Amino acid sequence: MKWTMIATWRMAIEGITEASKDLEKGCFSGNAIEKAIKMVEDFPYYKSVGYGGLPNEKCQVELDAAYMDGDTLSIGAIGGITDFKNPISIAKKLSEERFNCFLVGLGANEYAQKEGFERVNMLTDRAKRHYQKRIRETIDKGLSPYAGHDTVGMIAIDKNGKMAAGTSTSGLFMKKKGRVGDSPVSGSGFYVDSEIGGASATGLGEDLMKGCISYEIVRLMKEGLHPQQAADKAVLELNEKLIKRRGKSGDISIVALNNKGEWGVATNIEGFTFSVVSEDEHPTVYLCNKINNGQTTYDVATKEWLEAYEKRIKSPITFD
Ligand code: ASP
Repeated sequence: MKWTMIATWRMAIEGITEASKDLEKGCFSGNAIEKAIKMVEDFPYYKSVGYGGLPNEKCQVELDAAYMDGDTLSIGAIGGITDFKNPISIAKKLSEERFNCFLVGLGANEYAQKEGFERVNMLTDRAKRHYQKRIRETIDKGLSPYAGHDTVGMIAIDKNGKMAAGTSTSGLFMKKKGRVGDSPVSGSGFYVDSEIGGASATGLGEDLMKGCISYEIVRLMKEGLHPQQAADKAVLELNEKLIKRRGKSGDISIVALNNKGEWGVATNIEGFTFSVVSEDEHPTVYLCNKINNGQTTYDVATKEWLEAYEKRIKSPITFD
């Protein structure tokens, strides 16, 4: 079986690069997902996941994460957990439970504490500066408080054909306390079935949940569509439906992988990026063009783009 890993955004590249070494050796896809997402969670400059993630409107970092096993269909998920180092590991542990496998807020904190997961203050000084800047922008310039959010979502298949999915996010910047998006919600932020394939989403959770978009893509793949066709069809249809019924659609971006190791992506925004590694592809970052004539297109990120990204995420946060 051809092992493959696909993830939302450029931020996943270091994680999937590292985890791909395990997949190459024949390790379990679920462990590769956990390893890769932990690396994203631990890196302080990724401001929408884990340590350094952007806070809610009360300046508290509330994190959501989920894990799904494509063989057993076991799911573990947490919403609004505070001050634990690796939400993905807590979600993966929860997936071993028969009951109570989706915990939120204080319940999630208590579980993580009881299971001995590491506590860390997840609010960095840099995230606090982002918060202060956004407060000013919102008041002075009338900018949307909710712009600036991303989720790391991944699907992997290992040499034994086992598939797994994982997500981790700080959700919408400036969200209300207690707000949970699509990322920990099965069928919306992620879904995987080793007999078919999997998908994971990033974008405006409130809209992604209206289409159960990840499950919809897996359903289309079950009907025989290639992941690229399934992703394009599902994104196009949800985007159009939201515009028709509500006048507008939020950001919708998707990665999908089937159980043959074939993958696809779709997006209704400019600027979506994703990361892929497989038995026959070195770790690669791609830049997407938004869906046009029913098709999403993408190009390999150039060296210049990658360097500019690196610079941008570490640049000082200035107030004007
Ligand atoms: N989908 C996430 C949420 O709504 C955010 C994102 O992926 O950009 O919480």
